[in-house]
Amino acid sequence: MSQNADILIIGGGLSGTMLAVQLLRLPGQRTIVIVEPRTELGRGEAYSAVELGHTLNGNAARMSVDPDNPDDLTQWLTAHIAAGGWPESAEQAVPISELFPPRGLFGVYVQQRLAEAQAIGATYGSTVEHVRAEVVDLQADVDAVQLTLSDGQRLRAGFAVIATGMFPAARTPQTESSGVNAAALDPWDVAAMRQLDPQSTVLIIGSGLTMVDAVVSLEQAGHRGPIEVFSRHGLLPHVRRQPPAWVDFLGEDHSLRSPRQLLRELRRQCRDAIAQGIDWQAPLDTVRVHIARLWSQATDVQRRQFVRHVRPWWESHHHRSPPLSAELLQRLHSQGRLRIHAASFKGLEPDSNAAVSIRIRRRGEHETCVVQGAALINSSGIEYDWRRVARPLPQQLLARGLVQPGPLALGIAATAEGAVLDANGVPAKRLFAMGPPLRGMWWESTAVTDVALQAKALAARLVV
Ligand SMILES: Cc1cc2nc3c(=O)[nH]c(=O)nc-3n(C[C@H](O)[C@H](O)[C@H](O)COP(=O)(O)OP(=O)(O)OC[C@H]3O[C@@H](n4cnc5c(N)ncnc54)[C@H](O)[C@@H]3O)c2cc1C
Repeated sequence: MSQNADILIIGGGLSGTMLAVQLLRLPGQRTIVIVEPRTELGRGEAYSAVELGHTLNGNAARMSVDPDNPDDLTQWLTAHIAAGGWPESAEQAVPISELFPPRGLFGVYVQQRLAEAQAIGATYGSTVEHVRAEVVDLQADVDAVQLTLSDGQRLRAGFAVIATGMFPAARTPQTESSGVNAAALDPWDVAAMRQLDPQSTVLIIGSGLTMVDAVVSLEQAGHRGPIEVFSRHGLLPHVRRQPPAWVDFLGEDHSLRSPRQLLRELRRQCRDAIAQGIDWQAPLDTVRVHIARLWSQATDVQRRQFVRHVRPWWESHHHRSPPLSAELLQRLHSQGRLRIHAASFKGLEPDSNAAVSIRIRRRGEHETCVVQGAALINSSGIEYDWRRVARPLPQQLLARGLVQPGPLALGIAATAEGAVLDANGVPAKRLFAMGPPLRGMWWESTAVTDVALQAKALAARLVV
């Protein structure tokens, strides 16, 4: 049987690239093909950022792509800065491990780790090739997986891995029909924002880290007018500090499971920390390593309770803002230029004289009202429900019954090893997934550290 590769990786963002890195480092000869429409591997949306102000949300010490070496990024940055890279970092008087690198620079780091792994792989006779296309269909039989690409090409291999990352949100009411994405500015497109009247009012839907980036972009673009932010709970991400270590209270007590119990205990731990003069972020950060276990052990009822009642607070307290971005938001807020409204977005308002007109409902009110601005930015998040993702591959995989929605329809279902479950719940022998598509399996399956760990484990599984 003719095969183009041993392993086909669909998507060459951080996940697909780190999987290739881990595979190349393992002894044995293998042919790896990454299918990725972008010009460069290792970047995806997150690490294609070009603005220095669009930084990682964690400091270098927290963002290693090597699960065996937590200092890997710090070491790489130290060498990079010593060689004259990122000269602006000298403006921050902190150790390199505490710097929050620009995401575009992080992409360079990932690419360098890929190049090094290619050199190691070459000694085993392993190769990696980047095919620039979108995978539009996938078929699997007992011997192989076959991909159909957007240019009509077909590729076969013994294994395929879905590393397609996140898809933009389409869940806001009437999003598609009202064309909100078409009407909205890209949160990272500083050049487009330069076209705005600097004094004009900008409306932003969503108040998470993408909103933080959007405000950074507006500032870079020279915008000096009002910014009105609308989100259901009106919660802003907290600023990330460097809290000291705290006792791993969840590691010591596995009986804590329900969201209510967990929240009560977490609050108690935070109060204890504050009473001792320690940052509340210390106990909170110990929870992170237990999230996958807690989520996978939880019942669907408990998961729903978490999503409904705890998620907004988890998002704003755990997914924290880089300090420099947080300072900017704080400044704009105190100047009265940035206002946060607890209000849900109800849709675009047609037939308005303003450039953008949206209908919202403020929290606690029954009536809706209309707000006008010169521009709109949609930072309301990610679409994890594949049934609503209007891309060919997710649609085809669902239609062929090769995948099924994950718990709470978040991404797709898979085994603990990442083998995807078909429509009948049978684990695939040749088709795997990693990263954001496994959101429903682990809840946190997106951050650098999640992806790095999954890449290492999956590589070991694929070469067995
Ligand atoms: C703006 C932004 C900022 C972030 N900041 C941080 C941060 O500071 N810290 C952190 O830990 N995490 C951060 N994240 C999370 C980040 O997404 C992950 O760390 C990482 O990007 C996930 O990598 P991925 O490869 O799975 O997904 P992606 O980076 O989304 O890459 C997926 C790739 O798959 C390709 N693709 C999709 N469908 C197909 C197809 N059918 N055929 C071929 N290719 C396809 C896409 O072109 C894309 O390049 C951020 C995410 C975003 C969006």
